[in-house]
Amino acid sequence: MIFEIFRTLLHYSLHFLAPILLGYLFWRKNWKIASLLMIGTMAIDIDHLLATPIFDPNRCSVGFHPLHTSWAALIYLGIWFLPSWKLKAIAVGCLFHLFTDSVDCYLGGLKPNLTITMSCDKNYFISDLNSNSII
Ligand SMILES: [Zn+2]
Repeated sequence: MIFEIFRTLLHYSLHFLAPILLGYLFWRKNWKIASLLMIGTMAIDIDHLLATPIFDPNRCSVGFHPLHTSWAALIYLGIWFLPSWKLKAIAVGCLFHLFTDSVDCYLGGLKPNLTITMSCDKNYFISDLNSNSII
């Protein structure tokens, strides 16, 4: 019980307080806007609405929801290279969001799925031919 309270406090502290600290450390001149932009990256949790159930305490969101995948992380990383401190703050916020959710998964005994897979599945194609589903 105490561990779950600690886990929840840590999770929401990382989501809401760490961005303020990061904003102050990296964008001191604009730390308030940078912090708000990073906190605003909580919006990527909108992808939970695509899942059924929307919230499952036994599911790790990292690697499951579209905006929480490795592919999304690569896009966030790409955004970081764009020449705008506001976009960099959003990129850092999104990546830190994934880190925060990963920490929560580990503490909950769930494993984040951060593998990147690319496949050209020929077996699927062959099975389509065998079942005549293409015709
Ligand atoms: Zn999330």
